[in-house]
Formats: sequence, structure tokens, C-alpha cells
Amino acid sequence: MATETGTEATVTGGNEAETAETVAVRNPADGSTVAHLPIDGPGRVAEVVARVRASQPAWEALGNKGRAEWLGKLRDWLLDNQDRIAETMQRETGKVRAEASAEVPYVADLTNFYGKKARKFIGDERVPAHSPLMKVKRLKVHYRPYPVVGVISPWNFPLILSLGDAIPALQAGAAVVIKPSEVTPLGLSEIVEAWKREIGGPDVLDVVNGAGETGGALVEAVDFVQFTGSDRTAKKVLARAAETLTPVSAELGGKDPMIVLRSADLEKAVNAAAWGAFANSGQVCISVERLYVEAPVYDEFVTRLEEEVRGLNQGMDGAEYGSDLGAMTFPPQTEIVSSHVADARERGATILTGGERTQGEGDWYPPTVITGVDHSMKVMVDESFGPVVGVMKVGDAEEAIRLANDTRYGLSAAVFGKTREAEAVARRLEAGTVNVNDVLVGFLASDVPMGGWKDSGIGWRHGEYGIKKFVRPSSLAITRFGRKREPLYFPYTKERREPLRKAVNFFNARDWRRRLGRKRR
Ligand code: NAD
Repeated sequence: MATETGTEATVTGGNEAETAETVAVRNPADGSTVAHLPIDGPGRVAEVVARVRASQPAWEALGNKGRAEWLGKLRDWLLDNQDRIAETMQRETGKVRAEASAEVPYVADLTNFYGKKARKFIGDERVPAHSPLMKVKRLKVHYRPYPVVGVISPWNFPLILSLGDAIPALQAGAAVVIKPSEVTPLGLSEIVEAWKREIGGPDVLDVVNGAGETGGALVEAVDFVQFTGSDRTAKKVLARAAETLTPVSAELGGKDPMIVLRSADLEKAVNAAAWGAFANSGQVCISVERLYVEAPVYDEFVTRLEEEVRGLNQGMDGAEYGSDLGAMTFPPQTEIVSSHVADARERGATILTGGERTQGEGDWYPPTVITGVDHSMKVMVDESFGPVVGVMKVGDAEEAIRLANDTRYGLSAAVFGKTREAEAVARRLEAGTVNVNDVLVGFLASDVPMGGWKDSGIGWRHGEYGIKKFVRPSSLAITRFGRKREPLYFPYTKERREPLRKAVNFFNARDWRRRLGRKRR
């Protein structure tokens, strides 16, 4: 999928035509242009943010239940229109049908999860005072949303990584403006149009289109930024947000390892490795990009993996399904994949499958398995974000753990082996999520936090964290009983301060001598 900006005539009403900068959305499967969208400049971004900001107080006032009801209508619309959305997404991403149609179910499940749990996660809390001196207060915490949340998302999962964050933010009472990737804005735009026109939802959800300039303008205008993308862009977003002290949650890249212990069920491990490395053509932040296999099972694992990968079907499909791997969504990513493979080849690695960009129409790269790799090669240290995986033989679990942690990333990981042994290894991996005897699916457990360690991110989505980050606690200290002139108030005299000092000592000390203020003999 290529995008290019240009100046195009777009009809704005009546017979008048106005020139506007546009972004071209391409179908990566054949290179054809699918649509041109006008780019939203800083002025328009500020306008959209101001508009949803005006509607946010009424949205917040609906309460958790009222907001869950509206979001339930969005869920229902998504479920009713999932085929149409999958078709649009296939055109803009080059995904196969199975993967294009997997995004709506995730969003529907997440809507239900936060709709049900919001009260528990962000409802009012009554907190008993720990100090007897504060028992005169009734303590409560109530949570108020950041008024407007800006969601900036990448091209690999256009709905999961935009609505997936917008839903908890909306459920928390915030208004949301999404800047989808300029490469894949169409499916999301259709949904937001439906929210406005078909569902008639409150004016608290909108989209702005464009690339870095639009994203930067959004960062400037909102109260909280939810960013998903590369660490390179995240640094720019954080620098800009620092100017306005705007908090940022950042979900970034990965170089996820999978460890195969000698005790692993090899058939399962091979099937999982192939899926983990090549689902969505490897364009998944939590893709398996590095495999570490214990020596006694290495040869058999590699033989079986090669066989499994050679059996995969690559090509475009439709409602009839049938293809396993789709196209590369973003041409610059194909360049990165090609350079990683070329680097491994030059350094003496063995390319078992694939290894060359597919010639012809569109942007395609075959599933590529590389052996004879080590950590001097890009393919084992830099994020490939494409259909390539390196396989390394390791002497034992200790070596596997050391190599798995030898990375600047820490998004997710997987370990295959007898459950107890694999869990013991999993606990030593430096990653936000570790799957034991599975790959990728930890992401679907929205009950638990998901986020990156090290350069893979700052902040978490899913679970309580995934909604609490969009709210600010406001603590209420309500006086139950007191005096007209409290002991802490003026005037500061010995007669008034001494009883207070004695009471504080009594409650803070943990032995009777200090409690009673006796001197050491
Ligand atoms: P990217 O960083 O190039 O772009 C991400 C978004 O930021 C896009 O919408 C882009 O237009 C916008 N942007 C670009 N410059 C900006 C600026 N100066 N200010 C504000 N916004 C700006 O990333 P990408 O190529 O779209 O996505 C691929 C990356 O995303 C990979 O590194 C991948 O691992 C990561 N990713 C992470 C997760 C996760 O959950 N951790 C999920 C998917 C993808």
C-alpha cells in the first residue's frame, strides 16, 4: 500500500471545486488507487477537537451505563456490517479475508468487556483512612476523564489499534479523535461515519486524516495521547507532548522471541511458530521474529517448520477464504524486510524458504525462514515487521533466556515446553506479555494488561490499566465531624500544639516508650 500526497480537486458542494491536499490510498495487492482523502491540516484538527470537546461534558454525564449503551449500539452495527468492513479493509491493507474479518470481533469483545467492568475499574471508590487521626474524614476517589483523547494509530491493524483504544477512552467518558494511519484510513472512516449518521451517536468520536503534520496537530490539541507505532515516531510525539505537558501512552515495536524447549510438543510448536511468524504477513507488533530451539529437537523442528511453511497459501482471497498470507501493506516495510534478508545472506545465513520479493503486480513477499543466524545480523536484532523469521540452535534453556532478553525491545514472547518448566522460563523473560505453549493470543485476553518493556512502550492497554489511564483521580476528603477551630489551624501556641504532637507520636510510634513520649533511660 502506497500513499502519496498531492494536490487534487475535490468537490466541496454546489458546482464549486476547491483544491485540497489529498492522500492516495492504494490496494497493495495490485497497486491500484482505491481512494483519495483530503488531508486535515492543523486548523481543521483544532476545529474537530474543539467540536467534540464541546459535546464531552454531556457524554461524561451519561455515566458508565449510559455510555455502555451507546457503545453497545456501535458494537451491534459492527457485527451487522462486518463483511462490508472486511472488504474495505482487504482493499486498503492487502490482508487475507480471515485476518481482515478478525478485527471486528476483537472490538466487539472489548466493548463488552469495558462496558461490564467500567464501574469496577473507574467507579467511585470509598477508601477508609489508615490513620486514626483522619477517621474524621470520609475519603472517596472519583475518576474524571481527560476531556479529549487523541488516538494515533498504525497501518497493520486499522481497527484493533484505533477503536481498540477509542472504546475504553469513550467508555471512560472522554471524547476521542482518531488519526488513523494515512496508509489505511478507509475502514475506520466508514465506521465513524456510521456512528454519526446511521447510529446517531453523540458527537464525541471523529477522525482526522493525514500523516505527521496532522498527527502533530492532534498531539497539540488534545489532553491525552494514545499512540501506537514505531519508537522513532513515538519520540517525536513525546517531545511535542512535552511542550504542553500532555500525557502519552505509547505502544511500540517488538522483536519477539519464541523459545522451544526440548520437552515441547513439537507439532504444536511448529504450527504455532508458522502462524506466529507469518500471520498478517508478519506485520504484527507481537509477531514471532526470533526462534531459539534447544539442540536435541532443533533438526526435527527445522525440518517440520520448513514443510509447514512451504504448504502455506499466499494470495488474495475474498468471502470464500482460502489464503493464508496476504500482501505487504506498506512498501517501505518490504524494503526493510528485503534488507534484513540480504544482510543475513551476506553474513552466511541459510535461506530455507522465500527470500526474494515476489515479482509482478502489487507488493508481495513470501514467508521466509532463515537458519544459521546470530545476533550480529539485523534479522535477529532489528524489527523486521514482515514475513521473515530467524531460527537459532541453543544449548539449553539458560542460553535461550539470555538470547531472548538480548534486545532493546520487550513487547511479548512465547515459550513451548512442559507447562511448569515453560512457565519458569516465561517468568524470566523481559516482556510485557509471555505466552506459554501458544503465540499471539495473549493479546486477546483483554482481562490482563498488555504493553511493552524497554523500547517497546510506555503504558498499557487492556485490563484495568487500559481504561484507568484515560481518567484522572479526584480525591474527596469530606469532613464527618470537626471543630470551628481545628487543632491544625492558627494560632500556633504551645498549649494547642503540644496535645497534637502527643497524639501524633502516640499513633506513629510502634513501641510503648515512644508512644507515651518517655525519654530513653
Ligand atoms: P509510524 O510510527 O510510522 O506511524 C504511526 C502513526 O504515527 C501513523 O498514524 C503516522 O501517520 C503517525 N505519525 C507519523 N509522524 C508523526 C508525528 N510527527 N506526529 C504524530 N504522529 C505521527 O508506525 P507505522 O509504520 O504506522 O506502524 C508500524 C510500527 O508500529 C511498528 O514499529 C510496529 O511494531 C508498531 N506497532 C506497535 C503495536 C503495539 O501495540 N505495541 C501494534 C502495532 C504496531
